[in-house]
Amino acid sequence: MSNEHIHVIGAGPAGLVAAITLAKAGYPVTVYEMNRDVGHRFNGDYQGIENWSTEEDAHEFLETVDLETNFRLEPYADGDFFNPSGEKYNFNMSRPLFYLVERGTSEWSLDQGLKRQALQTGVQFEWGRRMTHAPSGKVIISTGPKAADAVARGMVFKTTHENYYAAFLDDEIAPQGYAYLLVNEGRATFATCLFEKFKDSFEYFDAALERMQKYVDIDILDSQGFGGYVNFFLDRPLMKDHRIYYVGESAGFQDLLFGFGMRYAMHSGYLAAQSIIEDLSYPDLCKEHIIPKMETSLANRWLFTRLEDLGYTIMLDRLIDKDDIIPILRSQYNPSWYKKVILPVAKRAFKTRLEDKQCMHEDCSCVWCKHGEHAYAEVEC
Ligand SMILES: Cc1cc2nc3c(=O)[nH]c(=O)nc-3n(C[C@H](O)[C@H](O)[C@H](O)COP(=O)(O)OP(=O)(O)OC[C@H]3O[C@@H](n4cnc5c(N)ncnc54)[C@H](O)[C@@H]3O)c2cc1C
Repeated sequence: MSNEHIHVIGAGPAGLVAAITLAKAGYPVTVYEMNRDVGHRFNGDYQGIENWSTEEDAHEFLETVDLETNFRLEPYADGDFFNPSGEKYNFNMSRPLFYLVERGTSEWSLDQGLKRQALQTGVQFEWGRRMTHAPSGKVIISTGPKAADAVARGMVFKTTHENYYAAFLDDEIAPQGYAYLLVNEGRATFATCLFEKFKDSFEYFDAALERMQKYVDIDILDSQGFGGYVNFFLDRPLMKDHRIYYVGESAGFQDLLFGFGMRYAMHSGYLAAQSIIEDLSYPDLCKEHIIPKMETSLANRWLFTRLEDLGYTIMLDRLIDKDDIIPILRSQYNPSWYKKVILPVAKRAFKTRLEDKQCMHEDCSCVWCKHGEHAYAEVEC
């Protein structure tokens, strides 16, 4: 039990998990959210909590970080992958590849589920507060991405199609990325995720939609468009002034290979809270639990960009005869000597489009340094 008031800026998964964990440990917590509710960054689209990068199943991970599953959480194993020529691959796997969740403002979204848990544990919310400076005391910054390292362009719609997922690899519809279809209980999300050529995202979306409709017999009703972006960066301080903690995508935590950032977001929120509760070093916890996977994902991205269309087919061909693709994917996501050798090259090649560097360089001109209270304090940039 502590009287130390903790401020959390941003009510996405990272901030909410941090707030829930701290409130459960007895800390008074206030969450400031610039929108009038959680989930406004998203549009009811489906996303997947990936289930391949760790031995621990993602469902167990949610239990480990002490979350209830009071939101839509559906295991997905059996689905289709398409290569650039339209050949279909259906892989063997011993457990779900991912757990589907809904993002946005509806009752069963991940965002609303976490908000309910936060309210139950006594977290206070201040809605419609776009924070431009950090309050005094301990502050967790969980404001999400600042710039686009990958862009998604998509739509949500109603359909009579059964529950299903498909992924499409082809640089003509998703440059250096992939397009995906997720169907659950009469609603669907289809999007293309581009790691290059962002300004042509609408054209790529049209091409991806045409491709998807060629290979999947699906009716589309009441469609609504959406877009979004994800941000990745490494090697920046994760704390400032011994009191400001960066978590989730505002810390650059993202899977650079495919953009599966939700687990990083929730895990880093949990670790920041644990570091406050247990008086541990947050950067050290991240170095142990998150950074090695981030580095591997950077090496993976470098390798993936070398594949191009023929490489995608070779990669899919290699997986099709395997008894279980989960351990193979896991081995790709975990550090190895081979990825360590590639990492320095990948680091040099990768240029984040990070715009707001969040006080992470000298003479910082970001909102925190220009307007925050610590603007006049000695800062560890
Ligand atoms: C289209 C799309 C599809 C995706 N699909 C997947 C997927 O399938 N699987 C996966 O794992 N990940 C996916 N991601 C990534 C995932 O959504 C993010 O990694 C995750 O939401 C990051 O969580 P966060 O809490 O760090 O930030 P966010 O979810 O962005 O939350 C940040 C919150 O902070 C608030 N905020 C921002 N600035 C301020 C401020 N100054 N003051 C107050 N409040 C503020 C925002 O309104 C927002 O509510 C996808 C992303 C996109 C865009």
